[in-house]
Amino acid sequence: MYDVIIIGGGPSGLMAAAAAGAENKKVLLIEKGNKLGKKLAISGGGRCNVTNRLPQEEIVKNIPGNGRFLFSPFSVFNNEDIIAFFENLGVPLKEEDHGRMFPVSNKAMDVVNALLDELKRLKVDIKLNAPVSKLLMNEEKVIGIRLATGEEITAGAIVVAVGGKAVPQTGSTGDGYPWAEKAGHTVTDLYPTEVPLLSSEAFIKSKELQGLALRDVAVSVLNKKGKAIITHQMDMLFTHFGLSGPAILRCSQFVVKEIKKNGGPVSVRIDSLPEINEEETFQKLLSSIKEDPKKAVKNVWKGLVPERWLLFLLEQAKIQESEDGQNLSHEKIRSLAHLLKQFVVKVHGTQPLEKAFVTGGGVSIKEIEPKTMASKKKAGLYFCGEILDIHGYTGGYNITSALVTGKLAGMSAAKVF
Ligand SMILES: Cc1cc2nc3c(=O)[nH]c(=O)nc-3n(C[C@H](O)[C@H](O)[C@H](O)COP(=O)(O)OP(=O)(O)OC[C@H]3O[C@@H](n4cnc5c(N)ncnc54)[C@H](O)[C@@H]3O)c2cc1C
Repeated sequence: MYDVIIIGGGPSGLMAAAAAGAENKKVLLIEKGNKLGKKLAISGGGRCNVTNRLPQEEIVKNIPGNGRFLFSPFSVFNNEDIIAFFENLGVPLKEEDHGRMFPVSNKAMDVVNALLDELKRLKVDIKLNAPVSKLLMNEEKVIGIRLATGEEITAGAIVVAVGGKAVPQTGSTGDGYPWAEKAGHTVTDLYPTEVPLLSSEAFIKSKELQGLALRDVAVSVLNKKGKAIITHQMDMLFTHFGLSGPAILRCSQFVVKEIKKNGGPVSVRIDSLPEINEEETFQKLLSSIKEDPKKAVKNVWKGLVPERWLLFLLEQAKIQESEDGQNLSHEKIRSLAHLLKQFVVKVHGTQPLEKAFVTGGGVSIKEIEPKTMASKKKAGLYFCGEILDIHGYTGGYNITSALVTGKLAGMSAAKVF
């Protein structure tokens, strides 16, 4: 008999186990895989973008999936507390662009190992290679868990920290959703977020733009009326199947929702020169021709955007790259200005949830106490991490959500005794 059992050894479960262990309770952490923190170890390209230092309002804005729910948990444990927590464990963090925080060592394993050392110090029992198959509960409360082997272990409180469905090789295979439903919870529709987009445009199929990266472009998802649903100004990448890169990942959930609402394909608009409008772009193209009327346009306009992109857009505008500017019609220059500002790619979907960075949807936050992560449906039951209907953009927001909700769940589960 344990006081608290935590199921799942990702960031939320590790933090929950540390928080429950710090309350001097008998704590068991159960993990189905042979290692703890598998996804954490590969996060942030192996560097682990562990949290973000932007003000809380900004953090919440970067968590489009129910970020506002986190205001209340943040009043107990927030991003600054995460930074202090890891510094105390001997893992100093450094700030990079957009407030992103990484270990100074650039090693995600340092974050994982610090959590494992802390669990050892707090004498948390750990059971690896032990998939949980169900929660044991009666009418009013949870009483324990059953392992796939049939073994049953009882506990006063259970924290479910089994993650979502993204990248299942790391162990997150969505096991917790049916348990939540059995306990009386609503699980909202699951969908991929932070995921590359698929397109069958001829220039994608021909792979002619594969590997081309556009820096700091404004990418918008358009609705059927051509109005932008969302715009993100960041880098993006053309791939052999469609579009990827930070701006695209951020836009992806809006593509999923638009397809669900109105069907596909969906238009994604790329603005290569977001700092100036279309007329200014036209004037800029025109004035550089006037400076050098006899020079080939590909040389006159080089430097405006990456060369491969310029040559592709020239072709789209039916302008010969070797043509000199002096004979070019204003109509053609306007057409290039338009393409630079409003190039549209039709996308018909996204890669599947298994290939997404983060799961959209999950255990409804309406049925969770925001200050404790306790279930409003079953006594002794707690949820934390990606299994909840909370999802953020890339940038440290998802691990922040996992660590914050994990801290609250572990602390509160231990305090019921
Ligand atoms: C490649 C990649 C890079 C990422 N990089 C970042 C980043 O840098 N910053 C950021 O903020 N977010 C990042 N994310 C997202 C972030 O890693 C996740 O949101 C976060 O790990 C979720 O934490 P979690 O504890 O809820 O679940 P998970 O990390 O998914 O952990 C769940 C654990 O539960 C275990 N489990 C599952 N079912 C059972 C069962 N039946 N019995 C026992 N155990 C079970 C699993 O084996 C797993 O170990 C990244 C995601 C990916 C895929």
